[in-house]
Amino acid sequence: MNPFFNAMEQLDKAMGYLDVPKHVHEILKSPDRFVEVAIPVQMDDGTVDIFIGYRSQYNNALGVYKGGIRYHWNVTVDEVKALSFWMMIKTATVNIPMGGGKGGVIVNPKELSEGELERLSRGYMKKMWPVLGSDKDVPAPDVYTTPQIMAWMRDEYEKITGKEDPGVITGKPVDQGGSEGRGAATAQGGAYCTRELAKKMGLTPKETTVAIQGFGNAGSHMARLLSEMGYLVVAVSDSRGAITVNSDQRSMSKGIDIAALSEHKKSTGAVAGFENAEEITNEEILELDVDILVPAALENVITAENASKIKAKVVVELANGPTTPEADEILKEAGVIVVPDVLANAGGVTVSYFEWDQNVKEEKWTEEEVLAKLEPIMVTAFDEVWATKEEHKIDMRTAAFVKAVERVAEKLVIGY
Ligand code: NAD
Repeated sequence: MNPFFNAMEQLDKAMGYLDVPKHVHEILKSPDRFVEVAIPVQMDDGTVDIFIGYRSQYNNALGVYKGGIRYHWNVTVDEVKALSFWMMIKTATVNIPMGGGKGGVIVNPKELSEGELERLSRGYMKKMWPVLGSDKDVPAPDVYTTPQIMAWMRDEYEKITGKEDPGVITGKPVDQGGSEGRGAATAQGGAYCTRELAKKMGLTPKETTVAIQGFGNAGSHMARLLSEMGYLVVAVSDSRGAITVNSDQRSMSKGIDIAALSEHKKSTGAVAGFENAEEITNEEILELDVDILVPAALENVITAENASKIKAKVVVELANGPTTPEADEILKEAGVIVVPDVLANAGGVTVSYFEWDQNVKEEKWTEEEVLAKLEPIMVTAFDEVWATKEEHKIDMRTAAFVKAVERVAEKLVIGY
């Protein structure tokens, strides 16, 4: 279950369909640079705790390194490396001029006060600033990091360097240089992919059921957007449990009222306990009898153990790395189409790129302008990946890797 081994297995598979020099494969097996830092943080009780932080700069052949910073107790070196590799593949899949990077801190942010969180975030920047900047490497939010955390980090960077550089980080609050449309961008991109795939498969939204694992930034916006498009979102989960519509609603072909569920989650902190819903386990939601399954939480949730029990015809990966390579094979054999993370959740990094572009050019685009620019990028990428899949008779993930590595290989500069 090592995510970096998984990533390298996916790369090996794609190399079989690529006509690129052998050294390209070797170069892409390691990040350009990996930084580990120790961050001392003064806690509220006066003691000092040391947190470990990472930044992996995988490849910048197509543009500056780009990728989020994750705060999670399970963050590891290999996870951060894998996530940065996937960012390189992702930016290249949607063909935006950015490279791949990722960061992380080993921490349970739920155990920190707001002041401790701010000091940790500023501390991360204090250690990492020499390798970051709008012309070098541009972080963004990821699991359990927020626009506020990005704002603290930008402020710290500017204090240290003494220069204004709003493009040093994206996912900032809109009134502090953030882009309109960023909050929902990942889900919006996933929704465009779902729409394009539904057209290919002849699925009509009102007859198509969806289960979504994770009700955070990506998952909750996806639930809202898909239900606005007419899909029946019949089950959702978060770290504290899962719910599905009760049998009455199911027989009436009704989905969950997502606006009401969001209110419930806001007031109770969990999706469990929502009225008119049945509680199921976090394992059961993955195996529900639905048309589309959207993993939108953490990696390695669809594995060799449960892949054969998945009943969905389509998996739209909003989370990064939710399906292991063994599970991919099982799903492929079963005829399940997987829209891979590097395509399905690329709306997030695309709008991050728009934010950086607006900051660098000192422009401000409306949400309509942002969405108008996002849609053709996502639709073109979807069509290209689909065409590559058809050409080589491969799964969509391998097809995305083939397109992406082709683009990176073309721009790789070989040293001295
Ligand atoms: P988030 O912190 O906002 O939400 C994560 C959600 O997952 C929460 O609802 C949490 O309760 C839930 N969760 C955690 N463990 C779970 C479990 N075992 N079962 C069910 N739910 C569980 O994070 P996010 O930003 O929505 O990111 C989710 C995934 O999407 C991650 O893999 C992230 O890398 C990926 N992603 C996010 C973005 C983005 O723009 N936010 C962009 C690209 C990819």
